[in-house]
Amino acid sequence: MTRALYYENGTQLTFDAVVQEVNGSEVALDATAFYPEGGGQNGDAGRLTWATASAAVLDTRKDKATGLIWHKLAGALPPAGTPVVGQVDAARRWRQMQRHSGEHLLAQAFRRVNPAFSVAAVGMRNPECTLDLEGDPAEIHVQAAETLLRETLGRTDLVLDTPTVPEDDLHLYAPRRETKVSGQVRLVIFRDSAEEAFDVSACGGLHVPRASLAGPVVILRTERIRAGLTRVVFMAGEEAGEYLARVYGEARARAQGFSVPVDRLPERVVATLAERDALKAEAAALRDALAATVVRTAPIETVNGLPVRCVVLDDIAMLLPTLNAVSEGGVVLALAPGGRCGIACKHLDRHFNVVDHLKVDVGAILSRVLKAAGGKGGGKSEIAQGVTPQPDGFFAAIKEALAAFIFVPIPERQPVSQPEYGQPFNKLSAPALGVDKTEIVGMLKPKPSNEA
Ligand SMILES: [Zn+2]
Repeated sequence: MTRALYYENGTQLTFDAVVQEVNGSEVALDATAFYPEGGGQNGDAGRLTWATASAAVLDTRKDKATGLIWHKLAGALPPAGTPVVGQVDAARRWRQMQRHSGEHLLAQAFRRVNPAFSVAAVGMRNPECTLDLEGDPAEIHVQAAETLLRETLGRTDLVLDTPTVPEDDLHLYAPRRETKVSGQVRLVIFRDSAEEAFDVSACGGLHVPRASLAGPVVILRTERIRAGLTRVVFMAGEEAGEYLARVYGEARARAQGFSVPVDRLPERVVATLAERDALKAEAAALRDALAATVVRTAPIETVNGLPVRCVVLDDIAMLLPTLNAVSEGGVVLALAPGGRCGIACKHLDRHFNVVDHLKVDVGAILSRVLKAAGGKGGGKSEIAQGVTPQPDGFFAAIKEALAAFIFVPIPERQPVSQPEYGQPFNKLSAPALGVDKTEIVGMLKPKPSNEA
């Protein structure tokens, strides 16, 4: 069993000891000031020095069965029986204690906001510590707990006391959480000059000697783990101070870029986002107008009776607006940089009967053509996009695919005005269309189709 010097004197960081056992890269000492990992607190690190060498202590752990405390070393190990001098890494220890005390104090602050906010679990392995609370604390409760703790640490000198008491006496201290420990129980108490306890916890960890030394305790965010359980992510002490200073420094640099004081940065960001949205909308409207002009002025080629416009674009952002600008009863093919391509048509079935087909599906046509070219793409029946590794052959390949259809104009239905929803069914047009279709199909000779 290793004598735990860290309990006898929490401020002692240098000590003399003798190596008891060696195992792998670990040594057990007869006494140590190195705190072993436990209770959510990381084990200490530091250095062991002996007559002929020294080695860094990377971590410390306790074997509960034997009571031995093992120190994991980097490099050569001193043999059993060697007298050593131990030196605990003071900065690392201090930050571990700030985290741990910050956790106790913040948990108590939440309990004072609402006793339903009880602790289910804690995490102190990293600078971002966690407190898992029951009772669904809302943002208003989070702010209340943070404020309560800030004011308590700033106005009251709470001093650490760590008595060990028999379990039968626990009720005299009313610890914040029920303890599973039996027999002698170590308590961690922060109390004011009038002996009034702010927080009492059964805990084997190491803590700062005064609660104010754990400050600031800052809540970074909350995360909902599940119904009834919320994770509060916080930082304490030097780590919280460094974090806040870094974030403030970054905010100040951004604010200088906007030529505003730091506290006006949020409103400047909101205004900038609104400006960005307005400019996006304006750019989209300009692209739509440009696309309409590009499509309108493109020459019309007739493919098997179908009016087709081919457009080459120098901006990928123009692809979709150009396809959307397709005119009634027409087809647009568009090719943009990088082989990005597309096809669109509009209401072909109102202007043409397609022999042997109910409808032309440009999504299916594009998909088939691009697949044959080694590209990929597809879309809906009236608009589709994709990418082709053979942009030079794109227009020809699509036109060839379209030539497999026979398009027959529907003369009496031009121009067609788009019916509005809710308009009564036009009894005259329905039978007329049926008659026309039969007559037209009857006049045509079937054409060989490329389609499978
Ligand atoms: Zn604790």
